[in-house]
Amino acid sequence: MNLILLGPPGAGKGTQAKRLEEAFGLVQVSTGDMLRAEVKAGSPIGLEARSIMERGDLVPDAIITTMLANRVGQADAANGFILDGFPRTVPQAEALDRMLAEKGLQLDHVIELKVDDAALVGRISGRYTCAQCGAGYHDAFKKPKVALTCDNCGGAEFSRRADDKAETVAARLAAYHRQTAPLLPFYGAQGKLSAVDGMASMDSVFAALSSIVKL
Ligand code: AMP
Repeated sequence: MNLILLGPPGAGKGTQAKRLEEAFGLVQVSTGDMLRAEVKAGSPIGLEARSIMERGDLVPDAIITTMLANRVGQADAANGFILDGFPRTVPQAEALDRMLAEKGLQLDHVIELKVDDAALVGRISGRYTCAQCGAGYHDAFKKPKVALTCDNCGGAEFSRRADDKAETVAARLAAYHRQTAPLLPFYGAQGKLSAVDGMASMDSVFAALSSIVKL
């Protein structure tokens, strides 16, 4: 089972991908997480990507597609994967089609999480994660049960993404509408696209996604 979660930044792709990963034994492949790891490691890819990400622009397709091809070829992805944040441009989607065809694989579902732009800025600017285990929190929607203590691992250090600042969020939304939204008709024409209301509660979104995955 191979899935793509499509939607603007802050739509809940990462949160839902993690839940689907556990429930269906799939692997979440987040190009954003992979790039942040490269930036943290100070690798050549990280050095090139860092300022682009901080501006809210897209990293060049060639870097991303090479990174992705290596990742989906790894053993843990053999049972299936959930792509979160990839593809983001039509050339990336075309490269993915070629890559999957070469490996004898196919996409089963492309699911759009539909969220109003007005809600996204608030969703993104309030989010943070546990620096130790990566569990996600939000200033308004999901605070730790005990203040400043991670529910999952008890960690006391949290971090916010450098690109979750209001100025950068606007650029990321613009990049989504200009470069990523054309993927909706692209996958619609392949008959693979479905949509879920991403404004519903996290549990309702998960239930809707699960019913598509089980089809
Ligand atoms: P994300 O975590 O998916 O919101 O991605 C964070 C940032 O990483 C984006 O704003 C882009 O700068 C970069 N990025 C992530 N995935 C891609 C991709 N598929 N293509 C180009 N840039 C990407």
